[in-house]
Amino acid sequence: MPKDLQKITIAIDGHSSCGKSTVAKDLAQAFGLTYIDTGAMYRAVTLYAIEQGLYSPHGLLVAELEKALPHIQIALRKNKESGQVETWLNQELVEDRIRSLEVSTKVSEVSALAFVRKRMVELQQEMGKNGGVVLDGRDIGTVVFPQADLKLFMTASPEIRAQRRYDEMQAKGEKVSFEAVLENVKSRDHIDSTRAESPLRKADDALVLDNSRLDRQAQLAWVMQQLKDRSWAV
Ligand code: C5P
Repeated sequence: MPKDLQKITIAIDGHSSCGKSTVAKDLAQAFGLTYIDTGAMYRAVTLYAIEQGLYSPHGLLVAELEKALPHIQIALRKNKESGQVETWLNQELVEDRIRSLEVSTKVSEVSALAFVRKRMVELQQEMGKNGGVVLDGRDIGTVVFPQADLKLFMTASPEIRAQRRYDEMQAKGEKVSFEAVLENVKSRDHIDSTRAESPLRKADDALVLDNSRLDRQAQLAWVMQQLKDRSWAV
């Protein structure tokens, strides 16, 4: 009997800007799954810290952020018109603001904090508890849903990832240099993979998807084939 996709949990982990969200959105769209962008949640916490003045000239005020955590409400809601999932922070739409280079530069430090991770992981587990979900992040297959039905670990070269991110930012009119974006990609890789709390690593049972040379359609077809091979009703 083919397995019911409405119950599936798909975990997509990997480096920054390697197209995890594109695969996740395409799968969500193809099968009517709920897309949970866990990076957006860490970005929202970071935006909160910036906008609430939780940075001193010496850096992040960690104790202040911990105190504020119960007041940070994050929701991922589907926009009925566009069909896109958008990030809300304390009832405010922040989808664009969380993608700025300033947030990208600061988010890895925020997401390395154990108390932030604990709260976000609880929220993610609650959001995904009924299945029919595809989540992307860094620790989904290892920590958030270690029993996920399909685990993907995505990667691509830093230069290719930086170029994609740079093109996206250019298209949105953000003025950044390619070098700054590449530097950010490399530095996030480093912090995400070497942090003490839930470092980015491939789960033993994750399938590796290197999309340096795959376009959007080819990578979706590849994932579909993996699902088919595992008797999911695609
Ligand atoms: O996926 P995205 O690049 O938007 O994630 C932003 C940052 O959030 C990552 O660089 C990483 O530091 C953090 N993150 C994380 N765990 C996740 C998702 C994102 O630590 N599950």
